[in-house]
Amino acid sequence: MAVEPFDTVDLIRAKRDGGVLSTPQINWLVDAYTRGYVADEQMSAMTMAIFLNGMHRDEIRDLTLAMIATGERLNFDSLSKRTTDKHSTGGVGDKITLPLAPLVASFGVAVPQLSGRGLGHTGGTLDKLESIPGWRADLSNAEFFQQLEDVGAVICAAGSGLAPADKKLYALRDITGTVEAIPLIASSIMSKKIAEGTAALVLDVKFGGGAFLKDIEMSRELARTMTQLGDDAGVSTTAFLTNMNVPLGFAIGNANEVRESVEVLAGGGPADVIELTVTLAREMLAQAGITDADVEGALKNGQAMDTWRAMIRAQGGDPDAALPVAKETLVVTAPRSGTLVKQEALPFGIAAWRLGAGRARQQDPVQHAAGIDLHAKPGDTVTEGQPLFTLSADEPERFERALEALEDSWAVGDASELIDYGPLVAERID
Ligand code: URA
Repeated sequence: MAVEPFDTVDLIRAKRDGGVLSTPQINWLVDAYTRGYVADEQMSAMTMAIFLNGMHRDEIRDLTLAMIATGERLNFDSLSKRTTDKHSTGGVGDKITLPLAPLVASFGVAVPQLSGRGLGHTGGTLDKLESIPGWRADLSNAEFFQQLEDVGAVICAAGSGLAPADKKLYALRDITGTVEAIPLIASSIMSKKIAEGTAALVLDVKFGGGAFLKDIEMSRELARTMTQLGDDAGVSTTAFLTNMNVPLGFAIGNANEVRESVEVLAGGGPADVIELTVTLAREMLAQAGITDADVEGALKNGQAMDTWRAMIRAQGGDPDAALPVAKETLVVTAPRSGTLVKQEALPFGIAAWRLGAGRARQQDPVQHAAGIDLHAKPGDTVTEGQPLFTLSADEPERFERALEALEDSWAVGDASELIDYGPLVAERID
């Protein structure tokens, strides 16, 4: 039996006491954890030590590279198109990938969007697309490359071959209260994106009530850490800090988010979804060397819609099929006339999840028609009895717990009481 070069407990003690781990130590730790030599309880202690004491920049880079080295690395050099990708840290009503990937691809750029399923109150892109009859998330490598060449946009499941260490570590962090650590989030996201092989990357780093990191300072630090990791690995990376205090758009769920995305691709849709889609598209196209694209025009003239339809068809979906509709609905109306002064993202995300739009465990199914449709946004004038939002679920028993989550999350008042949630796009970081 090979002799292990380090003692796990020594490394845990070093990190517990605020020390800095060397490159060989981190390489060994990640490899030994992936092959099962380092036990889950030891890695739990290590992630908690990292959570409490942080990591030096060099350690974060080493951790990211070590996680990449546990799996395969894709390479797009054989493609005839430039590649660029986007990653969002996740939010409520965040369906931006759906209109964005075909929009950018419609200008001749390849967008290899390897996505995940939702856990907790933030939705997963694959869950949303699986509301479309026939659409499949799992593609072989050959299908993936062919679709990138033919259509340009692919949104599909990341195979288990990319950064398997992250998969194991993320599941452990999820059950040990160590998800919200900047070194761990940054290395987790960037190991997958660098292994995926994109030439360029735009990060949508959320802050505010419905985001992973509530505080803009923390989001800024996360964004800076990730852009540096990307640039060090040769992936040209830019980040935007965007506001997740209020749900994005009017739809929160799965099928209804697809419906709203199609509205955006048809030249309509909510102003905030359009603004973020256009901002991220411009940046992705600029990274691919296209600075004069008429991005808004491509949403209005059917160019992006054509790519969407081709993308859905290429993965077995029928872009014209009816989307699922929930068996039960419950409409909440304005108790008085006035202004909608408050609408908090997190409770709406939790309520949609309780209605069946999200899952509590990775293996659970989601109910594609479950969710919430908003009928007003903060600042809108409403009259007594006017519908403010509609809850949809397949089982009516779900409404009570969803309504509980929504207590104190919205209010109708006088215009002077309107909460200032701040601008949607707060900062750009490169
Ligand atoms: N998304 C990831 O992929 N990893 C994290 O740690 C957090 C969000």
